[in-house]
Amino acid sequence: VSVFADWFDGRQARVRRVELRIDAVAGAGTVLVLDPPEADEVLWPLAELRALRDQADGTVLVLGLTSDPVARLVVADPEMQATLRRRAPGLHRRPPAAGTGRLLGWAAAAVASVAAIVFLLVPLMADQLAAYLPPAGEKALGNATLEQIRAAMGTELLPVGFCTGSAGRTALDRLASAMNESVEAGYEIEVHVLDNDMVNAFALPGGHIVFFRGLIEAAESPEEVAAVYAHELGHVVNRDPTRSALRTAGSVGVLGLLLGDFAGGTAVLFLTERLIEAAYSQAAEAGADAFAHRRMAAAGLPPSALATLFERLRQEHGDDESLLAHFLAHPTLGDRIAAAREAAAPAVLRPLLAPADWAALQRICD
Ligand SMILES: [Zn+2]
Repeated sequence: VSVFADWFDGRQARVRRVELRIDAVAGAGTVLVLDPPEADEVLWPLAELRALRDQADGTVLVLGLTSDPVARLVVADPEMQATLRRRAPGLHRRPPAAGTGRLLGWAAAAVASVAAIVFLLVPLMADQLAAYLPPAGEKALGNATLEQIRAAMGTELLPVGFCTGSAGRTALDRLASAMNESVEAGYEIEVHVLDNDMVNAFALPGGHIVFFRGLIEAAESPEEVAAVYAHELGHVVNRDPTRSALRTAGSVGVLGLLLGDFAGGTAVLFLTERLIEAAYSQAAEAGADAFAHRRMAAAGLPPSALATLFERLRQEHGDDESLLAHFLAHPTLGDRIAAAREAAAPAVLRPLLAPADWAALQRICD
């Protein structure tokens, strides 16, 4: 069974999901191996591990390293926590100040605690906060974010337009209501198409599902669009966009307090990029995929449509992350394709859209 943890390396402004294991390494003794996807392993000697007190709500173990004042690792897995408490000899020793002089040590510690607040505490608080945000609050957050995204991606004078071709809109509404059937989100689900080339789609807080024109045009069947819609609907139902927005907004807010002039344009751009990128965890993506497979089958549609689309996009675009950030930048894409192929298909397939409606949907931006 794999154990994962969240790793903040102190150099990049992001938290990465790493796989953990304990291993004996010549010259370094027993080490905790941090294995990030698509990057080299990092070794944390057990003797250098320190537990940071008062860093969280008590359910996670936040680790530091005596030789690195900034790096942090958040371990949520209870068994791994127990193993580390047993085997890391200095875990509960006071973390010594890094650096040579006392002042340097304090400076490093200050950097470390700011980093811990921005990249560890705020995300943890965001998860708690999301549970208390009322549906109307999520809707308001989503509406405001959608306008920010349209403005940030538009020209100086005009935000990116919504595509509103009436026959295409009717077809899209039909597709959406087939997928929404018996889904309880707590607010009305709204679907939009933005007039932009990007082959992407994302969900925002409050039940907004947004396609870019590029994705509608890249799809070769209404089932492929429905599969992406169902995937985004899975994020909505699991409230992934709300947690992500609160997390990012929280981090931006804390940075603003610390740096003074961080508010305004930079913060908005940062927020926009994060939301479009929709950098959710692997678990969140797998959850949204599983939801999509079930919804597709329940609607009489083949879950494998998600695989067909992903595979074709990967062939056409390779690893061009800018085009396909949400879908293809993910290291587990191969697994996701396989899962969609293996998902239970309905006994009888139902047609989703008539050919004329599908043609209208593909021209919704004309
Ligand atoms: Zn997703």
